[in-house]
Amino acid sequence: MVPSVSRAVAEHSILTAELLRQFDTPGPRYTSYPTADRFSHTVGPAEAVRALAASSVDRVAPLSLYMHIPFCESVCHYCACNKIITKHHERAAEYLDSLEKELSLVVGRIGSGRPVSQLHFGGGSPTFLSDAELARVMTALGSAFRWASDSEISIEVDPRTVTPSRLAHFRALGFNRLSFGVQDFDPDVQRSVHRVQSFESVRDLMQSARELAYASINADLIYGLPKQTPESFARTMQQVGELRPDRIALYAYAHLPERFKPQRRIAAADLPGAADRVAMLGDAISGLLARDYRYIGMDHFALPGDALAIAKQEGRLHRNFQGYSTQPDCDLIALGVSAIGRLGPCYYQNAKTLPEYYEALASGVLPVVRGYVLADDDVLRRDVIMALMCQGRVDFEAIGAKHAVRFADRFASELGKLREMARSGLVELDDKALQVTTSGWFLVRAIAMVFDRHLQEAKERHGFSRVV
Ligand code: SF4
Repeated sequence: MVPSVSRAVAEHSILTAELLRQFDTPGPRYTSYPTADRFSHTVGPAEAVRALAASSVDRVAPLSLYMHIPFCESVCHYCACNKIITKHHERAAEYLDSLEKELSLVVGRIGSGRPVSQLHFGGGSPTFLSDAELARVMTALGSAFRWASDSEISIEVDPRTVTPSRLAHFRALGFNRLSFGVQDFDPDVQRSVHRVQSFESVRDLMQSARELAYASINADLIYGLPKQTPESFARTMQQVGELRPDRIALYAYAHLPERFKPQRRIAAADLPGAADRVAMLGDAISGLLARDYRYIGMDHFALPGDALAIAKQEGRLHRNFQGYSTQPDCDLIALGVSAIGRLGPCYYQNAKTLPEYYEALASGVLPVVRGYVLADDDVLRRDVIMALMCQGRVDFEAIGAKHAVRFADRFASELGKLREMARSGLVELDDKALQVTTSGWFLVRAIAMVFDRHLQEAKERHGFSRVV
């Protein structure tokens, strides 16, 4: 059974300075394993074509789709996404031309009419597209694929770019899930990150979304932003509680100005210190649990009736590049600049710049520039890490039987490290299973990192956000 985090929060035992000192080390979010920093240029269009051909063998297997729209009108200073800042909306038309070329190359390999169980529009800001442009993309996708009856069709919404009537248009196009970028409602914080959007506007949009019968509404929040204090963030959380979105993603801001240029506009002196970050996280979690939200896993909460909370309860949770999902693992086709897909054992990523992306498609070539083909050891470790991230439990016999290994022998050194975590109360360990404790859920990626064979190299690059 998945432990409840409320007890840990009540006891406040997990977020002690000692545990943070020991386990708050840089680490990945494990939306994939191996993580994208392992990708290499040995995977290109030819490997992607082969992987698409392999995927086409089972014509009834459902697919997941990811569509990347890179444009934003203005830059948020905390941004770590691959985006293009422009006010020139006419640039979208050229982009959509190339997206359609990419789509037709993909469909040429896998055949049309494959069922799709999940479609996600991310960015950038997908709502940068006009209503007509979004309709154009959905029409193209609709003629290439077949929507499964229960398909989840979601879009990231920048509240500054939509109106209730636009939400109605999205609904008519088939979207049934919305994810609002909220981050923080405090005016000082909003000004300091260059993203000003009123509580009232978000409230009205969420209200409209409910009236339009969207199946699930998500709000993204960030703690650790400049000018945030435990008091100001508590007010934001109170306002979010009033809006009562079905899902909440609560991310930690990772300040990496050397890697993400927009973050150089944030003065380090304006950032909350470690103690304030811990207080914000602890208070936010306590408040969400008190409002009956369920802790899904890394960064994510959902109301008990939401599909994600039900899947968690029933042990059916999955994790992919978009985060937690109710959909079983399936091939993920990624379309658009910088998008990352997965076909069987092959991860692949498209060109990160528009000129490269356009050039490949103009030559009739898939714009894949890098990727990774999983070895057997990666597949085994991916299963272990995803079991930890989704179920909080690894059953040694089940994993051993699936991969024809003896778990205790194969992971002898990892189990040694986990014994130290067991002494700290993050996991329980016996001959049969590894179980994340109530407290351990807060640091679950630190536990997953123990199984990450590639981590040593990744650590040297200092690229990941902190665990808390
Ligand atoms: S945070 Fe989102 S909306 Fe803001 S600049 Fe980055 S991609 Fe665009």
